[in-house]
Amino acid sequence: MRIRLPRPRRRRPAPDPAVWSLSAIVPGTRWLPCHTTVCAHTTTRHTPHGTGYRCTACGTTKGDQP
Ligand SMILES: [Zn+2]
Repeated sequence: MRIRLPRPRRRRPAPDPAVWSLSAIVPGTRWLPCHTTVCAHTTTRHTPHGTGYRCTACGTTKGDQP
């Protein structure tokens, strides 16, 4: 009987904002962990929003809280 082992996942380095800044992406976009119930601790794109950054996935603004 053969046991199927899960394929090892390739470790990808964190996306570099400089590399990912396409024309569709707002300049200054950062990849940040969101920490909301929607995104959990997934690292998502955050666009500059006021004094903080706004999650492009769930719309939560972070960074402007005390
Ligand atoms: Zn989010």
